[in-house]
Amino acid sequence: QCANVCPVDSIKEVYEYGEVRQAIEDPEKIVIFSTSPSVRVGHGEEFGYPAGSFVEGKMVAALRSLGADYVLDTNFAANLTIMEEASELVERVTKKTKPLPQFTSCCPAWVKFAETFYPEILPHISSAKSPIGMQGPTIKTYFAQKNNLDTSKIVNVAVTPCTAKKFEIQRGEMNISSVSNGAEDMRDMDYVITTRELARWLREEGRDLRDMPESPYDSLMGAASGAGVIFGNTGGVMEAAARTAYYLITGENPPEDYLNLAPVRGMDGIREAEVVIGDVPLRLAVIHGLEHARQFIKRMADGGKNYDFVEVMTCPGGCIGGGGQPKTEVPMTDDIRQARIRALYDKDASMVVRYSHKNPDIKRVYEEHYIKPLSEVAEELLHTRYNDRSKDLGAAGMQEKPADAFSLGKRWRRT
Ligand code: SF4
Repeated sequence: QCANVCPVDSIKEVYEYGEVRQAIEDPEKIVIFSTSPSVRVGHGEEFGYPAGSFVEGKMVAALRSLGADYVLDTNFAANLTIMEEASELVERVTKKTKPLPQFTSCCPAWVKFAETFYPEILPHISSAKSPIGMQGPTIKTYFAQKNNLDTSKIVNVAVTPCTAKKFEIQRGEMNISSVSNGAEDMRDMDYVITTRELARWLREEGRDLRDMPESPYDSLMGAASGAGVIFGNTGGVMEAAARTAYYLITGENPPEDYLNLAPVRGMDGIREAEVVIGDVPLRLAVIHGLEHARQFIKRMADGGKNYDFVEVMTCPGGCIGGGGQPKTEVPMTDDIRQARIRALYDKDASMVVRYSHKNPDIKRVYEEHYIKPLSEVAEELLHTRYNDRSKDLGAAGMQEKPADAFSLGKRWRRT
């Protein structure tokens, strides 16, 4: 099934929930949904709620009503991503293990853009998989073992704000070969359905989100800290990573002003901040929109400032403005984006646990499964690699490429 989502009919929206529905109808299958941070502040708009309404409990109930065997929170894996990504950053900064700055890796559209246009910066991109990239293998190993589930029967479904995630889960590297003995079809994540697809599916079944009760996530991978919640906002990954990097460097939780890192918040296309953690200075940048990423890369190539950590998200406002989110107004307005952003920051501010490293479920998964960040098993299941796709551009594309971009790998390394 597909439908047009583009006014010039060049992009089709692919509906995959029919296949998920078939999996639910198969008594042999165990269908596990995992919901991304932004879905809960967008989904309500499809059912008449004001922009930014926080409908987490009703969304979980809706998934249960469709026949989910388990409903888990990808915010858990957002915390896991921070544990791995912040640990990698601290190693790069303190041990010079890899070049700086470190770029974030959780936006598949940004990663593919870099692979295609700037392959020389791939060593700068964190090897940490995205939250859904970590959620998948953790479900098929740890969660399956803890619940005595047959891994081969698990069907992992990510509910995301993002159409690019449909491509991401099909990358060859997103395959948990270590538990599948190399079986090619043992994918980390089996399906991605978007916020809009979920709403369409519910309407087809005659269900209205407004009639749903509140339901909690299932345990083990259903708890998250505020640092996972804000992943959906531009700047959220940076802010969450800064909180845990502080802890990793100093052994203490950060002071109050780190909990609301104002300079990395907002809607400017490129935002910067400098923080000092212990005696380690960190120069941070947050970018949303690939045109802003291009400008930033050019500025760096032209001999601009050095940075330590750079977050790039493709969609305006971050994932809250993703291509799979409701479009009650076309084009989407900044008012709608800001309402969703506020809802996630408000939720974070209201939470008792706001650090990834303090999430009890995260502590447990390391104690019982991953041992510690960047351990051998963590590297195997939670990290990935990237491919040079510059050949996709052909000869013409290579000529258009800014010549100075080729020197980035050398010039960006701090000495
Ligand atoms: Fe997907 Fe957009 Fe989020 Fe990138 S910023 S992960 S493209 S929703």
